[in-house]
Amino acid sequence: MNDRLAIVVPCYNEEEVLPISMPELLRVLDDLTAKKKISADSYILFVNDGSRDKTWELLQEGHEKDARVCAVKLAKNCGHQSALIAGLMTAREDADITVSIDADLQDDVAVIEQMVDEYHNGCEIVYGVRGSRKSDSFFKRTTAEGFYKLLASLGVKTVFNHADFRLMSRKALNELAEYKETNLYLRGLIPLLGLKTGQVVYERKERLAGESKYPLKKMLALALNGITSFSVQPIRLVFKVGLLVLLICLGAAIYAFISYITGYVERGWTSLILSIWFLGGVQLLAIGIIGEYIGKIYNEVKHRPLYHIETVLKEDKM
Ligand code: UDP
Ligand code: MG
Repeated sequence: MNDRLAIVVPCYNEEEVLPISMPELLRVLDDLTAKKKISADSYILFVNDGSRDKTWELLQEGHEKDARVCAVKLAKNCGHQSALIAGLMTAREDADITVSIDADLQDDVAVIEQMVDEYHNGCEIVYGVRGSRKSDSFFKRTTAEGFYKLLASLGVKTVFNHADFRLMSRKALNELAEYKETNLYLRGLIPLLGLKTGQVVYERKERLAGESKYPLKKMLALALNGITSFSVQPIRLVFKVGLLVLLICLGAAIYAFISYITGYVERGWTSLILSIWFLGGVQLLAIGIIGEYIGKIYNEVKHRPLYHIETVLKEDKM
């Protein structure tokens, strides 16, 4: 087969894992090329997402040693999703298939071959799905699984236990490029493309070295983005809560009126203060949720680019 594969790897401060993952990924390319499943000019595209350590130097060294190590340098840290899209959109120009994978190789590189097989069977998108989450901490596992369930209950279609380890054909990438949104949550977007998809199951491993670049804060931000970019249910919820509170209020008014005409007047200072605080809280919450969506609209309307590419290390002809 003469399909050119590009493995896209976002990297943020990954100096500790690159010396291990780079040769490993090159071995995958060697193997697949030898089996004639991909063309010999397939390559790895690392995206340096504004790292502050030696990541870029390591990538430059790697490129000098082996022309199949290519790299894009973003002008500053733009976050995992934007780094990924930067890599995918760059690879789209000359690769027939892309596989995106994290630099720490927690995802099993051995299944890349199965992904390519699925592509040859006619799939345009192949999801890598985790068989279990044994390698994740209890906290990460429960929060992540709870989050996927929440998304499903809000009506967002996602592939359960699939992160950003996936194969996409050029056709799929061209379709993806039509989605011009600034608030990027790729895992939610890709099922919308409606192309023929496949799945491969693998066991997720521990990080090879270094520590997670997804601290709780970034995880929460991604989760919130996932929900608010794909579902208006939270705003509806605000409406429903408002309605409920109004009904309670009506009940209270009727009760107060009856007590008034029967001559029994409650003193109830506590209940008064409590209801004021309660309503104040509900209102602030509601405004907060609506504000979140307005903030999204604000960002979308500006239509700013998601990333800026500083340099690309890649030969035109390999
Ligand atoms: N990453 C990135 N930019 C960021 C944060 C992370 O490009 O701002 C990359 C990181 O280098 C890695 C991938 O995203 O290749 C996933 O990050 P990590 O493995 O730390 O996340 P976890 O597996 O803990 O969820
Ligand atoms: Mg990881």
